[in-house]
Amino acid sequence: MAKRQNPFPRSGHDHDRCVSTALAAAEEVCERSGERLTPLRRRVLELVWGSHKPIGAYAMLDQLKGDGKSAAPPTVYRALEFLLGCGLIHRIESLNAYVGCSHPGENHVTQFLICKACGTTAELDDRRLGDAIGRSAAEHGFNIVSRVIELSGTCSRCRASQPREGQSDKGVAV
Ligand SMILES: [Zn+2]
Ligand SMILES: [Zn+2]
Ligand SMILES: [Zn+2]
Repeated sequence: MAKRQNPFPRSGHDHDRCVSTALAAAEEVCERSGERLTPLRRRVLELVWGSHKPIGAYAMLDQLKGDGKSAAPPTVYRALEFLLGCGLIHRIESLNAYVGCSHPGENHVTQFLICKACGTTAELDDRRLGDAIGRSAAEHGFNIVSRVIELSGTCSRCRASQPREGQSDKGVAV
């Protein structure tokens, strides 16, 4: 198997491109499934893609207020449900927050690598892990519904800037 690309974004990468790629992919996914990417759904997706750090629903509501078009929480939750259903975003259970999917429209098993220092979250999408878990669960007659795995730790960039272990507890700036 070819060496996998580091799923973490490069420092100083062109994030506007991440956002425009995600929005274009969303248009395509919606068109294929006959759904509408309404202005609110689009804006919520844009907010989720504000960075590679998971964002909570209330932070999104605040930003929408800043837009001057405050939306009621149920409206935002419905937009989030829609985006989740289309596979355009993922929910990070351990943080109660959302992050954009880096390969929308593709069927994938997901393991999240969540950096506790900078908050950046990347999708590992390693099929071997997913298969191993599937086999192991099946041996015990267990039927898996959700295969999402969340791993927390320190990304290579943060590790490089914090050479000494134990110094990294600055909290997650999300
Ligand atoms: Zn980016
Ligand atoms: Zn994904
Ligand atoms: Zn980090």
